[in-house]
Amino acid sequence: MRKPIIAGNWKMYKTPKESLAFLDAFLPLVEAHTRDEILLFPTMSSLAYVLEASEGTNVNAGAQNMHWLNEGPYTGQTSPTMLVSIGCRHVLLGHSEQRLYFNETYERVNLKLKAAINHGITPIVCVGEMLAEREDGRTEETLRHQIRASLRNISPSEARRLVIAYEPIWAIGTGSTATPEVAAEAHAILRHELTQCVGEATAENTRILYGGSVKPENISELMRQDGIDGALVGGASLVPTTFANIVHY
Ligand code: PEP
Repeated sequence: MRKPIIAGNWKMYKTPKESLAFLDAFLPLVEAHTRDEILLFPTMSSLAYVLEASEGTNVNAGAQNMHWLNEGPYTGQTSPTMLVSIGCRHVLLGHSEQRLYFNETYERVNLKLKAAINHGITPIVCVGEMLAEREDGRTEETLRHQIRASLRNISPSEARRLVIAYEPIWAIGTGSTATPEVAAEAHAILRHELTQCVGEATAENTRILYGGSVKPENISELMRQDGIDGALVGGASLVPTTFANIVHY
């Protein structure tokens, strides 16, 4: 009973005007689509516009990151209460670009995850190994550590809205997608570790998305794999027709 999620991560692309033009073209293409939940993650400057323009539709929007505190002297940050105040109920946490370029850690992801839960925001926690970790045979160890660190001191009931995105770093923005088998194997490791952390019932209900060079050409095969409950799409989510084709896999 895990409703798939197809999510678009717009990274640092699209002004408010461009974001609204995307919605004008995209909403009619996915109108009445109910099989999957459709989410967009615009930049902070476009988020309120996208939330307003998508209100009452089958498309929702979330933030690409947030701080864990409600307010304070933290230049450049946005708090959970600020997100809630504009009607935002979804957030990406620990995206690999935050980990690679802005020193994001899983200790902080854990704090952010607790804050998201406390504010009724659905968190999508991103995990995934680097190429060197995969080549060294450390994929399982890396993924298990990332899940354990993210979920430290989080109870099964607190984790009930949790979503995980498996995004192998070597597949993000590179054009080389994980094969469906490689992705399914990683998803199985993640669900097993989730079971250890929050119990079987919560782990079974947790949606685990795949991310990394998802395109209209490879989405169907990925979605056919057991345990892949949707996709987090970067580059291919920027063009309305391409992203709509992914939604209609
Ligand atoms: C992402 O940004 O989460 C992502 C998966 O990017 P891409 O689809 O471009 O690889």
